[in-house]
Amino acid sequence: MSTPVALAMPTVPRTRRSPDDIASAAPVEGPKKVLLASPRGYCAGVDRAVIAVEKALEHYGAPVYVRKQIVHNKHVVETLESQGAVFVDEVDEVPEGSLLVFSAHGVSPAVVQSAAERNLETIDATCPLVTKVHREAVRFAKRGQQILLIGHVGHEEVEGTFGEAPEQTIIVNSPADVDTLEVEDPDNLVWLSQTTLSVDEALETVSRLRERFPNLQDPPSDDICYATSNRQGAIKEIAPRADLVIVVGSSNSSNSVRLKEVAAEYGAKRAERVDNANQVDEAWFEGTATVGVTSGASVPEVLVRDVLGLLADYGYGEIEEVVTAEEDILFSLPKELRARLTADGDADRNLGGRGARPAR
Ligand code: SF4
Repeated sequence: MSTPVALAMPTVPRTRRSPDDIASAAPVEGPKKVLLASPRGYCAGVDRAVIAVEKALEHYGAPVYVRKQIVHNKHVVETLESQGAVFVDEVDEVPEGSLLVFSAHGVSPAVVQSAAERNLETIDATCPLVTKVHREAVRFAKRGQQILLIGHVGHEEVEGTFGEAPEQTIIVNSPADVDTLEVEDPDNLVWLSQTTLSVDEALETVSRLRERFPNLQDPPSDDICYATSNRQGAIKEIAPRADLVIVVGSSNSSNSVRLKEVAAEYGAKRAERVDNANQVDEAWFEGTATVGVTSGASVPEVLVRDVLGLLADYGYGEIEEVVTAEEDILFSLPKELRARLTADGDADRNLGGRGARPAR
């Protein structure tokens, strides 16, 4: 029996205090405006994973089973559920012979193996940038190195990467963990990281690791992905100018939670994370002239537009877009799905990722 991933229901629209009430509670000096971060929202890996489930539903029909949330966003998951996707926690909840999609966060070899044992047809929607980290883990483990994996214990991506070489990997949860690490050979260590960490915190962890283990080897390139770095870069520009920063993103979205932390660290007077506009508390606008807005890499733009609409209702109609990077990365859809689309004559829809679909 499959168990859908538990999801909070959308918040019910509530009665809000009026803009006049907010203005008289704490008058705002100077013009009100919004600083809108760019880049924000969907990254190429998330867009690809969501398209993969949509195309699987279109070409295989419902139900399409998905292990874990395809991406960490409630709105996206609920929308796909309404179209026939069934989210499960583990492979053994999927009926034998069914179609199963692995989420963008990746899976360990043990999960792939248990899917094969249940004769499941699988589509692997793991982001290629997560797959890159898996490959590095395998390569370093084959060389006999011990891997210090910087990332959050319990996060699906970390579980998947850890599972590539569990005997040779130690998870380093935070800089504070470094002092108590026990390693086999301090001269045969390499570090890797989760793709969605705070860039600054990861650098601090690496620097503390290197103080303890001077011969620590670096991976060939940073594992924190372009989307995480770019979204943090944009909010770093905005935060010092903002009385309030609103990050749109779910509580289990690592990169969304990091955006809120980075905003607070870089000078925002207040930083809040919301799933959607209904969770924005109008009391935050008291005395607030400038509101920064951004969204995590798993957040569809429609949710940001709702927040901007609410802000406009409270007098924040002027929007300045703060652009700190351009993104044009595009990932092909998973190969198993591409083969099916080609066989079905849908080859012109084989691309996934940002830019491959109309805005919605
Ligand atoms: S946040 Fe980065 S690693 Fe994660 S899905 Fe997006 S591009 Fe891939």
